[in-house]
Amino acid sequence: MISKKCRVCNSKSLKNVLSLGKQPLANNLENNPGRSLIYPLGLKLCTKCFNCQLSYIAPSKKLFDKYLYKSSISNSFVKHFDFACSKFIKYFNLNKYSYILDIGSNDGIGLKPFYNRKYKNLFGIEPAKQLSNITNRIGIKTYNCYLNKKLAKKKSNLFNLITASNVFAHVNDLNEFTRCVNNMLRADGVFVIEVQYLVKMLKEGSFDNIYHEHVNFWSVYSLQNFLNNFNLEIFDVEQVQTHGGSIRVYIKKKINKKILKKKSVENFLNKEKRFKINTIYPYKKFKKLINIRKKKLIDKIKKIKKNNNSIIGYGAPAKGSTIINFFKIDRHIDYIIDDNILKNKKFVPNTKLQILNKPKKNKIDYIFVFAWNFFDEIRKKNKKLSKNFVNIFNI
Ligand SMILES: [Zn+2]
Repeated sequence: MISKKCRVCNSKSLKNVLSLGKQPLANNLENNPGRSLIYPLGLKLCTKCFNCQLSYIAPSKKLFDKYLYKSSISNSFVKHFDFACSKFIKYFNLNKYSYILDIGSNDGIGLKPFYNRKYKNLFGIEPAKQLSNITNRIGIKTYNCYLNKKLAKKKSNLFNLITASNVFAHVNDLNEFTRCVNNMLRADGVFVIEVQYLVKMLKEGSFDNIYHEHVNFWSVYSLQNFLNNFNLEIFDVEQVQTHGGSIRVYIKKKINKKILKKKSVENFLNKEKRFKINTIYPYKKFKKLINIRKKKLIDKIKKIKKNNNSIIGYGAPAKGSTIINFFKIDRHIDYIIDDNILKNKKFVPNTKLQILNKPKKNKIDYIFVFAWNFFDEIRKKNKKLSKNFVNIFNI
């Protein structure tokens, strides 16, 4: 479905600012090599409110039901959420009987730190059955569905804290989603989201953030515009390291006057203004940067191949699929290693590139790290395997 209206202001004045051609669904790893279903992939910018959104929305049934991404596979992720938990408890004066909901709870990575601290009223919502089973088994009530009106009504005005990490960019019907959150949140409750940061993506040229699951790309500026429609407001923002650069945004109801707005909000908005986020200019630069990245990577591959060296990949995240498919580099890579057992023996969509849990040899000439946000962690863990680790976004 081509995206025709702005998700924030409903305007029809959308301008195409980037096209990555037709691409497969990045997270739908295949059991066999070869062709996958492909859909247009690109960005549109609203010329009224400057919200940035995906140009084409793929059917959600195809997107999330086979979701294999397990958050807890990464150690630094586990630590990140443990740290967040301590912070939230202190910041919002939570206690063991506070009601906490994590939307898109995955394998429970955001809830387990509360569980370990003996919190009693924890809830998750997770559409992927395999993942929701993991938390239900240990006794965290997890609804195996998308957030919906019926569930929101049942849990109306209940939660002290609602979190949604790496979810807000994925939701197609964001109005409905936000209405539901608003309904479930107590008047003095807090909604905390973590979302990949548009400004960082544009600045760094990390276009591998663009895949069909990310339907919207957020700045503080556009988030604020959007939340305004629901009488919600941002009262604090901070930068976090997950997914190569995200923001954690703290949101409350406007009627809640007890929580004061922190200076951070204004600071972010000012910086974004200086970056010209409310113009088309950063997108033009972004396009140029992607081409530079492509040239550097292809040159590097040519050099390696000229010396008859082999290349394997490390990490098969969704972003890897965008890079491999858009740069068409699959034929240069022998296979990809990924620690996630669920991905073993599967294929990167629309390629003949297989994913394995273990390398075929003890020594590898070159390892291209597609999960570049975990570059240091991966290199450290596998230093015996190769002398040459390449951060594909830092060549
Ligand atoms: Zn708009």
